[in-house]
Amino acid sequence: MRPVASVGRVSVARFVTDSSLAFLARRLRFLGYDVEVLRGARLEELFEAARAEGRIVLTTSARHPRRHANVIAWSLPRGEPEQCVRAIRSRAEPSGPPFSRCPACNVALQRRHPLEARGEVPGRVLRGARSLTHCPSCGKWYWEGSHVARLRHWLATALGRPWSGEQKEEPGVEPQ
Ligand SMILES: [Zn+2]
Repeated sequence: MRPVASVGRVSVARFVTDSSLAFLARRLRFLGYDVEVLRGARLEELFEAARAEGRIVLTTSARHPRRHANVIAWSLPRGEPEQCVRAIRSRAEPSGPPFSRCPACNVALQRRHPLEARGEVPGRVLRGARSLTHCPSCGKWYWEGSHVARLRHWLATALGRPWSGEQKEEPGVEPQ
């Protein structure tokens, strides 16, 4: 990763990026980061959105438009999601706990009673779950499942340390 000029550690950060970093965005959402993805956006548009919403631009471009000089942008390498996750985690706190955002929509998930998911998730899941989370935007349900173990492993590897127990009950997530 290129060094980021004049940017130290920030407390809680929210981000905006484009489709080129969509995979990274999903991984960051699992960790609790608020990462808006503007599909097909030009670099200028990312900076405008960042300015309007107080977000940091994540981009694979090294270019920083002069008129947006006061907008923070972190320039990231393409195709190095583990490295990017580690670097971002070392610089900024997520705005919510792990597994609290929909990885597809970036919307905060709502904790719901398993009965509310009846007919929409497999019965074996409902019988085993104390609670599930639901995305109010796409309607998807999330629960603890075997894919969570794979995702934890990926995140632990990326962060370079054991990563578990930050939250007692995590909802399941779909593998990518
Ligand atoms: Zn969603």
